[in-house]
Amino acid sequence: MSAELFTEQLEDRVSVLLPLRLEQTFDYLVPEGRCLVPGDFVTVPLGKRVVTGVVWDGEDAAPAASFDDSKLKAVIERVDVPPLPQVHREFLEWVAAYTLTPLGMVLKMTVGRGLAAGPPRPLVGYVLGGSPPARMTRARERVFELLAQGPPRTAKDIARAAAVGPGVVKGLADAGALAPVELRSIVQDNAPDWARPGPDLSDAQSAAAGRLRDKAAAGKFSATVLDGVTGSGKTEVYFDAIARVLDEGHQVLVLLPEIGLTAQWLDRFERRFGTVPELWHSDLSQGQRKRAWRRTAEGRARVVVGARSALFLPFPDLGLIVVDEEHDPSFKQEDGPIYHARDMAVVRASLGDMPVVLVSATPSLETVANVSAGRYDCLHLPDRFGKAELPKVVAIDMRSDPPERGRWLSPPLVDAIQATVSDGEQVMLFLNRRGYAPLTLCRACGHRLQCPNCTAWLVEHRQGGRVQCHHCGFNVALPSSCPACTADGKMVACGPGVERLAEEVAERFPTLRVALMSSDNMAGPDAVADLVGRFERHEVDLLIGTQIMAKGHHFPLLTLVGVVDADLGLAGGDLRAIERTYQLLFQVSGRAGRADRPGKVMLQTYLPDHPVMAALLSSDRDGLIARETEARRSAGMPPFGRLAALIVSGRDPDLVRDAAYALAQGAPQGKELQVLGPAPAPLAMLRGRHRWRLLLKAERTVNVPETVRRWLRAVPLPNQVRVRADIDPYSFL
Ligand code: ADP
Ligand code: ZN
Repeated sequence: MSAELFTEQLEDRVSVLLPLRLEQTFDYLVPEGRCLVPGDFVTVPLGKRVVTGVVWDGEDAAPAASFDDSKLKAVIERVDVPPLPQVHREFLEWVAAYTLTPLGMVLKMTVGRGLAAGPPRPLVGYVLGGSPPARMTRARERVFELLAQGPPRTAKDIARAAAVGPGVVKGLADAGALAPVELRSIVQDNAPDWARPGPDLSDAQSAAAGRLRDKAAAGKFSATVLDGVTGSGKTEVYFDAIARVLDEGHQVLVLLPEIGLTAQWLDRFERRFGTVPELWHSDLSQGQRKRAWRRTAEGRARVVVGARSALFLPFPDLGLIVVDEEHDPSFKQEDGPIYHARDMAVVRASLGDMPVVLVSATPSLETVANVSAGRYDCLHLPDRFGKAELPKVVAIDMRSDPPERGRWLSPPLVDAIQATVSDGEQVMLFLNRRGYAPLTLCRACGHRLQCPNCTAWLVEHRQGGRVQCHHCGFNVALPSSCPACTADGKMVACGPGVERLAEEVAERFPTLRVALMSSDNMAGPDAVADLVGRFERHEVDLLIGTQIMAKGHHFPLLTLVGVVDADLGLAGGDLRAIERTYQLLFQVSGRAGRADRPGKVMLQTYLPDHPVMAALLSSDRDGLIARETEARRSAGMPPFGRLAALIVSGRDPDLVRDAAYALAQGAPQGKELQVLGPAPAPLAMLRGRHRWRLLLKAERTVNVPETVRRWLRAVPLPNQVRVRADIDPYSFL
């Protein structure tokens, strides 16, 4: 670089994108003697604040009104982390354009979660200390065995690996039986060992693994579906591809549904690669977040496993993305930027020229359609690994075998529970309803307890004796007299939640060791891991749970799964009700009989002839998929057509309605598209805001984001009304 050019650059200004609700970048002066390149993380003054942003060069980011230089402020400093790679910047621009989200808000998903000012504090780990504890318990012994053999670990890691509560580790540390050491260097150097041999693969597994390894080595974009029944060894197969990509020197991202981020998955990873991967999920502490972010940005985290937001971490050298349980609805983010992490993972892989693997026992119709159209490749694992067989599924017709009044378990299921535990095996009862009862009403006047802020019933939670709104969190003590007619003692619970089911189980089987797993009593992954451990060690006979326990777990002694209300997801008739109900029930069923003891699944249903039940009973997944595919195709619904929803909301019901009608007036026209609505949303009020919806339905050839962008631009709306665009909606509430 010539001296002249260099001087010119020193006087230059840069565009900086800030993680705020803004489309455009701001110009800043480069401090004297500095050289900044696109992608650099910088701190800049904004009003009285200091904000961390990224030097931007994208064409989409139009500079704000240009000031003369004398008014420009200067960049404060460059943050000491590697610049955001160009492919990541392109990805953020792509996501912003597709989801109609201000670019700054998309950047926030990359910057906001881990790059707080200042470097993270060092990590503390523990080794065996000088004085053994006075009292030795079985749990303490497990901690000692673990640390006697292995390297120092964090308290959290010890609790997980030794299957003890956090209190056990803290107790030992306080008593001086464990000594703290600085972990930083050890963790840094502990890269996964991809050369370690994996298990011997079956023929089907090694065929699939071979194909994946080839794709991993090719170093170009490919999308592959790994389609295999629960327990077929999909995880072992994609571990092979991970090993290959690590050998090439690249980083790997594994996306799991939040609740699938289990200790069991981490244990398996550690067994295979000799160390745990970098974890990224919403339950991390600020310190853990900062460390994980930096280690990823610096390329030191070789494998990151995370929930959907991990997709936005600044990988300098990503070489493979795996989306496990790709069909899972939790990959769709509904707050803030509305995006589907599976779809965006495919985009990220394509921009970065790398393979993406979509893993599922029940692939989504979108993914199946992409395979049929030849856009994605598909690898099959048709059987469970080893001796395990898929469980036998039976339906209990609740019309002919009803439970007694006020009870929820039918006689055949009660008998089966009894027989299973008598054989020394375990039972899981699945009911996807939190709390004690979904509805409370007054027997005198019929009044129902409803949320004052939302179109929703209040759900009773016995623990604490309160009723609660599951949408906004509003809660009050369960009233003893009716708020409407003041009749005393007439409030009754209607229908079952998991707490009520637990009550029935306790009454029927007083000697069983029963545990409840729902998001209300499981504060984060550690609590889940703790209970999973207890169930694995057979300290619990019967586990009652919501969908939080439906995924991923492997319990060798679990042989009976009872689905208390198999029809629950079918009500409402949402576009994907059939597909989702099938996926969820298949997933739950897949917990049974995973080892050498055969499993059984009992579905309590009032609709035993429903296509979903029929498919589950006869293991005819492909028949159901074909049927649903045809229904969607003939209706022009996704994946054969495109949808976008507009959700209009505000505090003033008249303004919201008027705005919804104004949008309908200004709706795009054309024979390849159609606008449905406006109509009040099913969830007509949410957190005190009134809501209306419009739905754009278009042929596949239509550029839906662009159409919606033009539509919104053409219809001016009052400030008090907010419109959110949801491209490819999954929720229609
Ligand atoms: P999936 O992810 O398809 O549900 P998993 O990968 O969890 O299946 O495998 C189910 C069980 O079978 C796990 O306990 C796993 O360790 C075991 N397993 C799968 N493949 C093999 C193999 N080739 N050798 C030994 N164990 C295996
Ligand atoms: Zn509410």
